[in-house]
Amino acid sequence: MSLTVQKFGGTSVADADRIKEVADHIARSSQKEQVVAVVSAMGKTTDNLIRLAQDVSGIHPGRELDMLLTAGERISMALLCMALADLGIKSASFTGSQAGIITDTTHTKAKILEIKPDRLKAALKEGIIPVVAGFQGVSTGNDVTTLGRGGSDTTAVALAAALNADRCEIYTDVPGVFSADPRVVPEAKKLKHVSFEEMLEIAATGGKVLALRSVEFARNHNVVLEVRSSFTWEPGTLVNEENDNMEQPIVSAVTSDVSSAKLTITGVPDQPGIAASLFRGLADRAINVDMIVQNTSQDGTTDISFTVPKTDVGMAVEIAGQIAPMIGAENVSIDENVAQVSLIGAGMKTNPGVTATMFEELAKLGVNIEMISTSPIRISCMIRKDNTEMAVKALHQAFSLEQ
Ligand code: ASP
Ligand code: MG
Repeated sequence: MSLTVQKFGGTSVADADRIKEVADHIARSSQKEQVVAVVSAMGKTTDNLIRLAQDVSGIHPGRELDMLLTAGERISMALLCMALADLGIKSASFTGSQAGIITDTTHTKAKILEIKPDRLKAALKEGIIPVVAGFQGVSTGNDVTTLGRGGSDTTAVALAAALNADRCEIYTDVPGVFSADPRVVPEAKKLKHVSFEEMLEIAATGGKVLALRSVEFARNHNVVLEVRSSFTWEPGTLVNEENDNMEQPIVSAVTSDVSSAKLTITGVPDQPGIAASLFRGLADRAINVDMIVQNTSQDGTTDISFTVPKTDVGMAVEIAGQIAPMIGAENVSIDENVAQVSLIGAGMKTNPGVTATMFEELAKLGVNIEMISTSPIRISCMIRKDNTEMAVKALHQAFSLEQ
């Protein structure tokens, strides 16, 4: 019998009725295949627990925050097992620790080091469906850890790899991965298939269906993913290795992201080593820099602009402010009214001209391009935040992604 890991996100288990529906689906699946279920916390439970922590105190030690947040997934797993029992299905819940998910000691964003799924394997052998709490593990120091927000996807993919599962199904509130956010572009279409590389770019540029780390894990361990809806249960989007027989679409999706801010340092001396010292300073504080643009002026100085996650702006400004006088730069400024719009498609590798068309479309709209970054299968432009929806709609249409 084949083995499938089925992960159910927060909306899929948001209330008692939803949990019963999920139990029903697992019961039906288990007639044809072995199932391991992974669950997220119910609905907005994790957000609510974070708010509660803030109401109680301004101090949130990572160890205690992790202990608190892992409770959310425990509630879901126990309730799901009860709903399965009602259907006459034998199941047993397992915390991350009981499931053998060993992580490093970095609280609130721990990395999985190793998985020892002995208890899950034993349960499967006895015909018991393991229901595992997502988003959590136990550290090498024996403390409870969490894997970062959205981490249940990573739990599911990691378990699928460790158990050598045939596939990993991610159930959510949308029927798959779309050519654009359907709330912005109503005619966006569901993609039947995307490659790991495309999915990585989509997840990294604002597509919210899958957590980036889970896609990296799936690619590295070749775990076939399917993104599906737990509301309609229809076939979703398959994420797997690029298939040579398949006609590669030139552009598969257009995404947008407003989570970055632009920092500009002016009057930087145009000399070797200056950029190095600035970006070393940022890297040492684990700040992720994305796009970088440098303009040379007449008088031997340059302006350097770069983007950082909005959540790191404070720290980035502080570091740039400290380094600016040391490198003889004049001024540091921030701009949070920016957005990144990206086109993603495996076929770009072999089809020139996508960039030109993208720039022409933005020009037609009178949208100024402030920064550009590319990969072999992606082009991203930084534009004014107000123009995001208009640009996404126009690009979706220009590349006929609705067809
Ligand atoms: N419950 C956690 C969160 O909200 C993990 C997850 O849903 O994947 O981030
Ligand atoms: Mg989630």
